Amino acid sequence: MTTVDEHLERILAEVAPTRPRRAGLEQAHGCVLAADVRATVALPSFDNSAMDGYAVRAADVAAATEDAPTVLPVVGDIPAGPGTPAPLEPGTAVRIMTGAPLPRGADAVVQLEWTDGGRESVAVRRPAARGLHIRRAGEDVTPGALVLPAGTVIGSAQIGLLAAVNVARPPVHPRPRVAVLSTGTELVEVGSRLGAGQIVDSNSHGIAAAAREAGAVVRRLTGVPDEPDAFAKALHGVLGDVDAVVTTGGVSVGAYDVVKEVLTGTGSVRFDQVAMQPGKPQGFGLVEGVPIFALPGNPVSALVSFELFVRPALRRMRGLTATGLPRIVVTVGTALRSPSGRRSFVRVGLDRLGENGRPGPATVARPAGGQGSHQLTSLAGAQALLVIPEDVTEVPVGSRLPALLLGGDAGAVLSGLGWAETDRSDTDTDTGAGADTGAGAGTGPSEPIAR
Ligand code: AMP
Ligand code: MG
Repeated sequence: MTTVDEHLERILAEVAPTRPRRAGLEQAHGCVLAADVRATVALPSFDNSAMDGYAVRAADVAAATEDAPTVLPVVGDIPAGPGTPAPLEPGTAVRIMTGAPLPRGADAVVQLEWTDGGRESVAVRRPAARGLHIRRAGEDVTPGALVLPAGTVIGSAQIGLLAAVNVARPPVHPRPRVAVLSTGTELVEVGSRLGAGQIVDSNSHGIAAAAREAGAVVRRLTGVPDEPDAFAKALHGVLGDVDAVVTTGGVSVGAYDVVKEVLTGTGSVRFDQVAMQPGKPQGFGLVEGVPIFALPGNPVSALVSFELFVRPALRRMRGLTATGLPRIVVTVGTALRSPSGRRSFVRVGLDRLGENGRPGPATVARPAGGQGSHQLTSLAGAQALLVIPEDVTEVPVGSRLPALLLGGDAGAVLSGLGWAETDRSDTDTDTGAGADTGAGAGTGPSEPIAR
């Protein structure tokens, strides 16, 4: 059997960041910068006022006090806007607005609140130090400065900064385009009326959502029947337009396992028994240069395989260097067993140990429900995958083990539900107030979560 690490290494060695391209800011949102961005301009690009008030020469208001204000003639207004204001003559003031260019000769701005707000002349009640309320050109960014390094994830602040330095089309790694293809003659699309022996295709939806959460642009193909020609046709129909394909089902040793049948020996695709639970049968390789992930059909196996193998690959394709799920060490709150020679990934809820537990804060992990590879409720209720090493078969309460945090790449999803699509009639179902998450309820074996 192949180890989990060997399988992942093989995958990461075969996938590469998507080819850099310049993209408009809206498209660049959520992508990773493919090259350093250096400023060609200064930011601010000209000296300007940080306040609404009066531009003055500091020396002219040096003697101003509350009791004996300095009165200066106001020679005009400078609103924010294009143009170069006339130089400020000594002994005068000019009304200036926030963001407006500072006139040559002025070296301080007196805020409106320190004056009588006069239009013809202004009484200044406090002295202003040189430079007061002036935003100097280049104070934030100087020309030539590194604004954002390659590898940066472009979020809202980065978009704002790119726009501010007038970069309209930054170089990015485009989001990988991923086709998600579920196989199974028993599958029907969600919302259909089910006949005997039919089941809803949940994998293509779950995997498509996971791929979107990982920052991919997804095309979903549902329920390709277990016929070699149909599968081959569906696959070749998308290969030219995508950066990766994720299939589910049809990778076991049974008859009708079409994915394995069609892809064995195609390109560099190989099917391995990976020493893990859930998700033992795994296929991976390149077909016409496109990485194909052939995941097992059981819904939990498919999603756990996605987290362990596909998400890291998609992160690499997006141009990120940190590819793994966030990992913490937890205390096991329920005794567990694990098969010898396989790495187990147990769906767990996490809780902080209370006052009556061991000293100090520690995160306690307990199974989030039944661990069969068809039991999705426990995955939906889990916050992490507890990792039980290959050589461990008995895990006593109190053991310390790593756990991989679930929850997707925050901020990577850009295609959420639009307001117009929200169907209120779907949202008033009573979910049971105060639903017990199973965590923190005593020290006995945790109850499976009934949903
Ligand atoms: P397979 O790997 O194709 O033998 O599938 C293993 C199990 O997962 C079977 O019980 C399938 O019915 C189920 N399964 C396969 N594909 C899907 C899917 N897309 N959605 C839900 N269940 C599936
Ligand atoms: Mg099948």
